[in-house]
Amino acid sequence: MSILVFIETDNGNVKKSSLEAVSYAHAIAAQNQGTVTALVLGKVEESQLGALGMAGASKILHADDTALDTPSIMAYASATAKIFNDTNSDLLILAQSALATPAGARTAVKVGAAMVSNVIEVPEVSGDSFKVKRGIFTGKAFETLTVTAPKKVLVVKKNAVEMKTDGGDATVEKVSVDISEGDFKLKVLETHKQEGDVLLPEAEIVVSGGRGLKGPENWGIIEELAGTLGAATGCSKPVSDMDWRPHHEHVGQTGIKVSPNLYIAVGISGAIQHLAGVNSSKCIVVINKDPEAPFFKAADYGVVGDAFEVLPKLTEAIKAV
Ligand code: FAD
Repeated sequence: MSILVFIETDNGNVKKSSLEAVSYAHAIAAQNQGTVTALVLGKVEESQLGALGMAGASKILHADDTALDTPSIMAYASATAKIFNDTNSDLLILAQSALATPAGARTAVKVGAAMVSNVIEVPEVSGDSFKVKRGIFTGKAFETLTVTAPKKVLVVKKNAVEMKTDGGDATVEKVSVDISEGDFKLKVLETHKQEGDVLLPEAEIVVSGGRGLKGPENWGIIEELAGTLGAATGCSKPVSDMDWRPHHEHVGQTGIKVSPNLYIAVGISGAIQHLAGVNSSKCIVVINKDPEAPFFKAADYGVVGDAFEVLPKLTEAIKAV
């Protein structure tokens, strides 16, 4: 089985979610005598490529045609489809993101593949038949699909597998995908980076505050804990609706969906629309003064207490470690 993995970069750095996608591909390849090729599009720091080998890729194809200089769903899909066909691949793996998911869908159409998104586990494989488990209804339920199409595209959610770090060296080959900007109806003119050191959708740790914080002037305790942990800050919808926090911090069904290793919810009740954005977090810690708050049902750890007392003590204790 020949597996191609779409690698997403940010400012020349390989995204961690893409290393997870390579690890995911390696888990399939290991059980099915497969090979894993990582496809890097656009500019990348050469020093970043080693991590792809350690995550399980045996080969890296790097295309840096100028049309790939700025992230473009159409250009990425065209390039990926060309390489998928040229390498006679059977399976394309992408880590779910605002860019990779639609690029995966377009690629699937171009190469005549079946696509499954929201994939949360390594599939059971028997010949051409894959049993694929995916999240549905914003993660509140699961379904298992049998996919029999010979070519497949799987868009994988974060935390579907443990990241592999003990692979080996991968060979690096430069390729050209022979596309130009004029081939596409849309052109990215410029990109604006969101402020803040840690971006919410990518964050490994998120500290999120809700209406229980009473007002924007109290966000210092959230920021201090987040700064201590190297975390991104998030909030519930009413908090951003009231302009206590910027809209790009709004987490939930109608906001950003996060999948961190650790989600700390402070003064958030745990409404179903908020949970829809956090339920693929690995570990959820809830701090709420109401022991009946619904969020406790979804929590791995809960602290019943006043945020204004608990948070400073928690931050102090973490700093002391
Ligand atoms: P509240 O429900 O007011 O809860 C505040 C919590 O803080 C309470 O549990 C309280 O016990 C606790 N608290 C109070 N004081 C303290 C203290 N001192 N220390 C500790 N705890 C304290 N919401 C989202 O978040 N994201 C979404 O994407 C979203 N999408 C929506 C879409 C639709 C169509 C609709 C109808 C609603 C949506 N909502 C969304 C709103 C959602 O239903 C809730 O109203 C919202 O999540 C509640 O926000 P909250 O938990 O901050 O506030």
